[in-house]
Amino acid sequence: MKQEIICEKCNGKNIKKDGVRETKNRGKVQRYKCLSCSHRFSIDDGFWKMKNHEDKITSCMNMYYAGMSLRKIQEHLQMFAPKNSHYSTLYRWIVKYANMISTLTNNLQVQSGQELMSDEMEYHRLGEQNWFVDVMDTETRFMVASDYMKSRTIENLTRVLKKSKFATGEQIKVITTDGLQGYPRVLRKAFGVNNKFKINPKVQHNIVIASERGFNHKIERLHNSIRDRTKIMRGFHGSLESAKAIMKGYEIYYNFVRKHQGIDNKTPQEEAIPELILSTNKWLSLIKLAKL
Ligand SMILES: [Zn+2]
Repeated sequence: MKQEIICEKCNGKNIKKDGVRETKNRGKVQRYKCLSCSHRFSIDDGFWKMKNHEDKITSCMNMYYAGMSLRKIQEHLQMFAPKNSHYSTLYRWIVKYANMISTLTNNLQVQSGQELMSDEMEYHRLGEQNWFVDVMDTETRFMVASDYMKSRTIENLTRVLKKSKFATGEQIKVITTDGLQGYPRVLRKAFGVNNKFKINPKVQHNIVIASERGFNHKIERLHNSIRDRTKIMRGFHGSLESAKAIMKGYEIYYNFVRKHQGIDNKTPQEEAIPELILSTNKWLSLIKLAKL
């Protein structure tokens, strides 16, 4: 992932560094000059025109996904940052940056094991029942796909499973789901699974009915901890789009930021995409990579 700087005016590639610009809220920003057309510019590193420092914004994201309420985060930040940011602003940052990072993370491919397991959790938004569906690689614990949806239609579930197929390629041999009726069709569409006619015997559908769940304790525990950790965000009040972004942010936190005791205190990403190197502030690293 090498950064190539291109002139925003003439698309020229012959660019040199041209000093730094002091900004009011974000410190120094690198400036560039195009040697073809002499245009001078700086690059949007993800925080262009933001009135707050990237450290404040990324620590807000981290506190939120670690389980703090928006009002508590506002109180906390007020103590250490000069400018008071209202919790509704904090919410907008989280939505904005979760969407930004997802343009990177939705397109990554992983080194997975051979089994995927899907799970559905019930959430509420404006008094209505919604669902969060995730598909996890049982070996690396990487969440290869997820989506927040109004209802578990064939189309919605197929979109999530197709995404998990994209992320894992030909590595999967077994897909474990609950007994929800739509799954055989969904897996046929996304993975070509057809156990009845053995059209694609390379991938098997393993159905586990609800009362027998808990057979894969490690993954079951993970799903329980997702339930616990997202409790604070389980009652959504805004649009479907912002609820989707908030849960996308949780997927990012889960895969790239949070360390798992179950896998040697590593993040699932360190297991599933070891070639991706992130700095200590993983949120900041991901935002900058997404903007390359
Ligand atoms: Zn130029």
